[in-house]
Amino acid sequence: MTYRGKTDRRFNDYHYSWPDDWWYIDLDGIEVCRRCREPLLFYEVTRDAEKVTSILYRLCVRAKLPGLLLLVPDGSEPFTDETQVSWRAIGTRPWLDGPLSDLKESVRVLRSEHDQEAHGWVPKP
Ligand SMILES: [Zn+2]
Repeated sequence: MTYRGKTDRRFNDYHYSWPDDWWYIDLDGIEVCRRCREPLLFYEVTRDAEKVTSILYRLCVRAKLPGLLLLVPDGSEPFTDETQVSWRAIGTRPWLDGPLSDLKESVRVLRSEHDQEAHGWVPKP
């Protein structure tokens, strides 16, 4: 895994000084194919189980891509494959619960499907 440093939030912070009726949201993550650079999946990460995702839902519809809302635990512990989280597809309910390794496997399947459809590549068993 590569980590390229802390997120620079200066523009984000600055944008909050703009007029109150100008809405701004940021997106927490985009899963991307390394081969063709196509976006595959949007992520929104939250600690708020009631988080509104209507804008992200619209983005998913426009892009024709799935999105996941990831509900993470409070605390400052680094995440591992064993970290327990909840997630749900954008626009759906209920929450699914499990370790991050389960979510990782779902993303692996999504990537594999993209590889087969876009690149004709079939993983070895
Ligand atoms: Zn691709």
